[in-house]
Amino acid sequence: MTLKNKVRTKFVRHLGKGFRDDETTIRIYSRDLADLPPLTKLFYNNTADAVVLPTTTDEVKKLYELATENKIPVTPRSGGTAGFGGCVTYKKGIIVDVKGLESELLIEPFDQSVLVSPSTVISELQRQLNLQGFSLCSYPSSFYSATIGGWIAHGGYGVGSAKYGGALDQILALDVVLPTGEMKKFTEKEDIRLFVGSNGTLGLITRIQLKIKFDIPLKQFGCTFDSPLQLAKGLKEISEIDPYSIWFFNPKHVEEINQSFGYSLPERYVIIVTKEISYEEEENEFNLSFNQTVRNAGGQILDRRYITNIWSFRFKTFAMLKEYKDYLTNEIILPIETSGKYLQKLSSKIEGQIHLEGEMIGKKHYSLLMFLYFKEKLGPFKKLRTNLELYKNVLKGIKAKGYPYATGLWFAGYYQTIFGKEQYKKYKDFKKEVDPRGISNPGKVIPPRLKLFPLISLKTALKLASRFV
Ligand SMILES: Cc1cc2nc3c(=O)[nH]c(=O)nc-3n(C[C@H](O)[C@H](O)[C@H](O)COP(=O)(O)OP(=O)(O)OC[C@H]3O[C@@H](n4cnc5c(N)ncnc54)[C@H](O)[C@@H]3O)c2cc1C
Repeated sequence: MTLKNKVRTKFVRHLGKGFRDDETTIRIYSRDLADLPPLTKLFYNNTADAVVLPTTTDEVKKLYELATENKIPVTPRSGGTAGFGGCVTYKKGIIVDVKGLESELLIEPFDQSVLVSPSTVISELQRQLNLQGFSLCSYPSSFYSATIGGWIAHGGYGVGSAKYGGALDQILALDVVLPTGEMKKFTEKEDIRLFVGSNGTLGLITRIQLKIKFDIPLKQFGCTFDSPLQLAKGLKEISEIDPYSIWFFNPKHVEEINQSFGYSLPERYVIIVTKEISYEEEENEFNLSFNQTVRNAGGQILDRRYITNIWSFRFKTFAMLKEYKDYLTNEIILPIETSGKYLQKLSSKIEGQIHLEGEMIGKKHYSLLMFLYFKEKLGPFKKLRTNLELYKNVLKGIKAKGYPYATGLWFAGYYQTIFGKEQYKKYKDFKKEVDPRGISNPGKVIPPRLKLFPLISLKTALKLASRFV
């Protein structure tokens, strides 16, 4: 689809300078973090007709009204740092760059909440909160480039999720422009839940009210385990002592951390535990219970000298890539209880080259980032094959009662696996009501059909293709 002149003129009239359809802009917006081989472009249309940067909520409203009237797909985009294709067009149409929206940030110290625009970069939000003695409860490690709206729409977790949960657990209210152009505020958890992880398919979030917490000092503790099964036991028991964050690596990834950042961590399964600690007695007390818990779980305590300053590397996983010509990643959420064997098999996959980095996202589940690094640039076929191999490993994780981290484009069709049957029904009913013409981010959440073979869904095609690698 390419915008007809008459339709283009309507958008230009309402968005003026905020409307762009030059080739360079469109190319810049044609991908997110995932660098996919050109072959995949046969299946979807990742180049938009135009990019718009509205500055006000009224402009967003007008944009959606025009898009619904003319049946033009609208794809919201913020930092573009997610790797699931959620902010990449599937059927051309218009990309709305949310970062153009006027920024707003109002801290309510008595309510312990903050009112913020979705375009706010998370590190900036945290900086403003810290200046007043507050902090976000949890946040993604794409801290310096992701926006708060993008994190919510993608359905994220992150640092601090072990104690405070993910994006959903922090939202008190959301203002949304629905695809019909109606502006609405949602304050009930059940309503808010619809917009978390649905990738802007139900409209565009224009204002957020979040819970915040006091900025309590954080202290790190470390331990190691000899095998994935022991690691799982360790994660389970450490979760019970209520830390702020539980972050871990497999031996391959530890080797990389040592080389890149000059640590000499033992090349075993390493867990870094962070606790909010206000007083020395609290620290001593936690230290005792941590040591006891690790020993009971069969692990070894890491002397704290081994992990000096390691907390400052929580945002630097991707910085390690600078030594490499190519990389591939995927991510899954797994329950501790049923995933020990899966983790064991995964560690030996792809000739033992797989890097694993995890984070507890509550007391029972952890997110697991899988990485592959390459010294040479991969050719398109090898890249596709290896990508599918990682994809297959995520699908295998579903058998261990896990689920993909997010839907986006690549895991469209897995919303029910992630959020449950009842929630999927609510999602579909609401989608029908607010987006009868299906213009808000088509191709995401509900599995799209292939461009060249419309009888086959992208979900089926990826599943089949990954079986053959
Ligand atoms: C180094 C690195 C570390 C990361 N660590 C984490 C992590 O710890 N936890 C985690 O969850 N993710 C992580 N990610 C993935 C990603 O960065 C986050 O999910 C991020 O929060 C996405 O925000 P964004 O602003 O880049 O959104 P985008 O990628 O631009 O968009 C994400 C989705 O949200 C939709 N969207 C964006 N804005 C809006 C809006 N205002 N209204 C409605 N829909 C909207 C888009 O259409 C898209 O579907 C990481 C990525 C990188 C590169």
